[in-house]
Amino acid sequence: MEKLYNFINGKFVAPNSNQYLEIFEPATGQTYAQVADSNSADIENAYESAQNAFGNWSSLSVKERADYLNKIAEGLESRLDEFAEYESRDTGKPISLAKSVDIPRAVSNFRFFADYGQEFNFESELNNDQSHNKIIRSALGVIGCISPWNLPLYLFSWKIAPALIAGNTVVAKPSEITPFTAFKLGEICQDAGLPPGVLNIIHGQGSIAGDALVNHSKIKAISFTGGTTTGKLIAKKTASSFKKLSLEMGGKNPSIIFSDCDFDKMMKTVVRSSFSNQGQICLCSSRILVEESIYEKFKTNFIQRVSDLRMGDPSEIETQFGALSSKGHFDNVIDYIEIAKQEGGKILVGGNAKKLNGRCGNGWFIEPTIIEGLNNSCRTNQEEIFGPLVTLQSFKSEKDAIQLANETEYGLSATIWTEDNEKANRVSALIDAGVIWVNCWLVRDLRTPFGGMKQSGLGWEGGDEALRFFTEPKNICTLA
Ligand code: NAP
Repeated sequence: MEKLYNFINGKFVAPNSNQYLEIFEPATGQTYAQVADSNSADIENAYESAQNAFGNWSSLSVKERADYLNKIAEGLESRLDEFAEYESRDTGKPISLAKSVDIPRAVSNFRFFADYGQEFNFESELNNDQSHNKIIRSALGVIGCISPWNLPLYLFSWKIAPALIAGNTVVAKPSEITPFTAFKLGEICQDAGLPPGVLNIIHGQGSIAGDALVNHSKIKAISFTGGTTTGKLIAKKTASSFKKLSLEMGGKNPSIIFSDCDFDKMMKTVVRSSFSNQGQICLCSSRILVEESIYEKFKTNFIQRVSDLRMGDPSEIETQFGALSSKGHFDNVIDYIEIAKQEGGKILVGGNAKKLNGRCGNGWFIEPTIIEGLNNSCRTNQEEIFGPLVTLQSFKSEKDAIQLANETEYGLSATIWTEDNEKANRVSALIDAGVIWVNCWLVRDLRTPFGGMKQSGLGWEGGDEALRFFTEPKNICTLA
């Protein structure tokens, strides 16, 4: 069985413990590889390697660093189909999604920051009658990047690329549940000639390897994407060391559908925003709020469209709906369906685990599920489920819709559907969310700030925000 090693100082190395964790294919429920179960000794080795590489890497020009990032992008792009197959096998997501979203976006992350880094003002000036101020933004040093299992390479590279272009070196830990493409990224870095130690990839459990990264006294910043509970733990553990922190966390995103929307366009997109990647995207709509006058029409159409989604073997190109990414997560979602029933929810469609024929007979599949009849304060409508389960609620007025949307501790994203621009602007201004899509979903300009409000985030990613996070300013003042 293939063993996934750590990538330290440009080489693949076994973990200090010589222990490995099993990696499963969600579509079959079978183990297919083993991944390094690393501990603090591996993190220390990776840190040393990153620290040794820091001087030379941070002294390169931005253009020179960009050339390496572009080579990584090229290498990844040339192996796009192969990486998409790895990502689909590791996560249970449809191969079509891995091919059209996950891997292309990982390529774009490297390419985007290679270009954007060259436009960013690492040096600027502010002058007045009395003083001349030169402001320099320098790399921080060694950065820790921790990413989740839902969009493995997409989110891994979204952190690594800006950290590297800004001149930092990196120790990165992907999720132990979906480590395969992060492991293979090591090969791409070797082929691109990335200097040893600039990027180190350590595998293992969050509570051991992740914890050692977070607690390392010399790592300057942690860029984390994952659940709010883990984010809070990281914030507590780093409080006294004053590490810089960027925490991208959970959501409970509303989709607000007004009666004056373009119904067909809305319906097509809301099916996607609810059930893409089996609802395992932090930006997926999980609470669908529909204006009372079109509630029944919406419900009938939505049930029909969702029932038509083609669930199947994720490796088949026509599959639209795959497996949940881990047995633990599958069990969680099944538990939430039970909770929803106990809370009085009526299941309109789905609500069951699904047994497929053939090689996927033991896979972790759950039907796309729509539930109505629950109030906004119940657990189903307040807790992040992060799976193929959405609830429907109706609202009477704009004010009601805003109140329902904001009545949650999360504030990651929202979608608003209306053809009335003024209404869209009014409602957007009052929704507590870091990303608001009007009549669209998951459209991303990588220059824009990305992050969440309330319990969904601390700090921002994307464009300038990311490059500010991964650098530290220094003002050098002389008399005019
Ligand atoms: P998670 O359990 O919080 O894990 C995220 C990462 O943190 C994994 O690499 C995990 O490692 C690691 N980790 C776990 N415990 C740790 C600890 N004590 N110290 C350091 N690292 C630790 O989240 P998940 O279940 O993988 O991902 C789902 C969550 O991510 C959802 O809440 C979703 O909303 C959120 N998410 C947010 C965004 C966003 O941009 N806001 C994007 C995607 C996902 P192991 O997996 O190896 O344990």
